Amino acid sequence: MVRADRVCKSFGAVKVLKGISLEVGRGQVTCLIGPSGSGKSTFLRCINHLERVDAGRLYVDGDLVGYAERGSKLYELHPRAAAKQRRDIGMVFQHFNLFPHRTVLENIIEAPILVKKLKRDEAVEKARDLLARVGLADKVDAYPAQLSGGQQQRVAIARALAMDPKLMLFDEPTSALDPELVGEVLAVMRDLADGGMTMVVVTHEMGFAREVADQLVFMDSGVVVEAGDPRQVLADPKESRTREFLSRLL
Ligand code: ATP
Ligand code: MG
Repeated sequence: MVRADRVCKSFGAVKVLKGISLEVGRGQVTCLIGPSGSGKSTFLRCINHLERVDAGRLYVDGDLVGYAERGSKLYELHPRAAAKQRRDIGMVFQHFNLFPHRTVLENIIEAPILVKKLKRDEAVEKARDLLARVGLADKVDAYPAQLSGGQQQRVAIARALAMDPKLMLFDEPTSALDPELVGEVLAVMRDLADGGMTMVVVTHEMGFAREVADQLVFMDSGVVVEAGDPRQVLADPKESRTREFLSRLL
């Protein structure tokens, strides 16, 4: 579903991604870990067209992200084509980014109506189903400020799912939450994984990585230092940098 082949990204003179190669199979969950500034968010943003890679190739579901390939030449993708690719990718951020002046329901139905041209009734029905799925059936008419952080994040997940994404990206979805609210969000994510969603998750929740992820990737300074089965990487990291990072985390 995602294939990165020596992906590079710089901001000015600063090289942030220095040749990231990794693959995420359909229906698989990959957790990304690494120190602050190692490029985790930048990598997710490249997948989601929020940044454009400057070298290497990045594919989502077989489509080159951000470029069109003709012969051996690459052309920047037309914004409309990029928007179309992006529609199939859901993203959930650390800060939930809900519209504060709209109800939970309105937050969820907006994109399906505007972008997917769903009829309002259909969008509402879908939103209700999704809210039930994330355990918030009774919060349809609430405003974000009336919800806890964990509830807001579950709404944000439902909102992303309302677009029927084929890939979900999570950037530290529980980092801004009080500890007692982390579990309810992870439970929703685990459910999603069990349902076969392809997911790339930046997180430092090692329990989640161990139990849910198919792959754990440790990034440092813009490179993949180590990747593999989460249980193996956590129990017996091959690289000293991974070991050092994990020992600081636990
Ligand atoms: P954290 O764990 O703190 O979220 P991260 O691994 O997600 O870190 P990134 O946010 O990807 O790291 O940032 C990697 C580097 O790229 C940092 O040095 C950051 O300052 C730099 N960077 C990110 N976005 C930009 C930008 N738009 N312009 C300039 N530099 C940027
Ligand atoms: Mg980040």
